[in-house]
Amino acid sequence: MEQKTPLVWNPILRQYLVNAAHRMSRREGTSECPFCADIMEGRVALDTQVWLHPNDFPPLVPPAGEAYVVIYSRDHDRTFTQLTVDEIYAVTRLWRDLYRDLAQRYPAVMIFENSGAAIGQTQLHPHGQTYGVSVVPPTLEREMETVEQEETAGRGCPFCRVREELGDSEYQVAANASWQVFLPPYVRYPYETHFYPRRHVANLDLMEDEELRDLAALLLKVVRGYNELFDGAMAPMPYLLGLHQLADERFHFHVEIQAIGRAPGKLKYAASSESLWGLWANDSAPVQKAQELREAIAKEDA
Ligand SMILES: [Zn+2]
Ligand SMILES: [Zn+2]
Ligand SMILES: [Zn+2]
Repeated sequence: MEQKTPLVWNPILRQYLVNAAHRMSRREGTSECPFCADIMEGRVALDTQVWLHPNDFPPLVPPAGEAYVVIYSRDHDRTFTQLTVDEIYAVTRLWRDLYRDLAQRYPAVMIFENSGAAIGQTQLHPHGQTYGVSVVPPTLEREMETVEQEETAGRGCPFCRVREELGDSEYQVAANASWQVFLPPYVRYPYETHFYPRRHVANLDLMEDEELRDLAALLLKVVRGYNELFDGAMAPMPYLLGLHQLADERFHFHVEIQAIGRAPGKLKYAASSESLWGLWANDSAPVQKAQELREAIAKEDA
């Protein structure tokens, strides 16, 4: 029987998964870059630095969802850390445009990046991805439940409270005028970081230009910092980067980076307790890892 939607309901966990069997045949590591082809074949203008490319093997199609690739640079050989703050600022503005468009049709807009061959990046050209999805993913649903519970209990925004607790503490990794970055005590990966805007803002649509530029600067600082750890022995750090946002103004926009390296030459894998139970184990001291990351960032600033 032909399946009508790629969204399959798991009645036991009460959550959806995306079943996209056709994606097994997507190209991997071929020499032809589909994003350079956009330039060569004139699909983007000569002065275009960042643009959207439709996902050629979309896991979701309307009305279940839409999928796009966000190209960060015309230059195939640049990496994210070789981009300038202004170039990443242009990416964040494109993220905001994309959010504004997709949020009109979908309750969830997932903007993310899989960086590094170790975690399945198949194209080298600097890029990230975006899904508009007709269902709210479990993690966002859980975060929103917390927001609602805290509101009911009269305690206000839980993200604002976490930000106040971790801000300027030994868990803070970096900060600027509008953002703070933490490596909270409850991270799943040793070098996982969470970026919170100082202002309570639910999503990209409500972000000011200056806040986006500050986000760009801090993303660059932290990812470069990852690559400075142990004098570069963990570079390029593979990571998963995701923007968590919702249209509901009670939500608090934030960015999470799961850096996959745990020590030079070693990656953290989600093992049984994590994959089969959802019980994460972190074999490192967050305060120490936060300090290592602060020092790596300072070295890169010097
Ligand atoms: Zn390319
Ligand atoms: Zn808040
Ligand atoms: Zn989150």
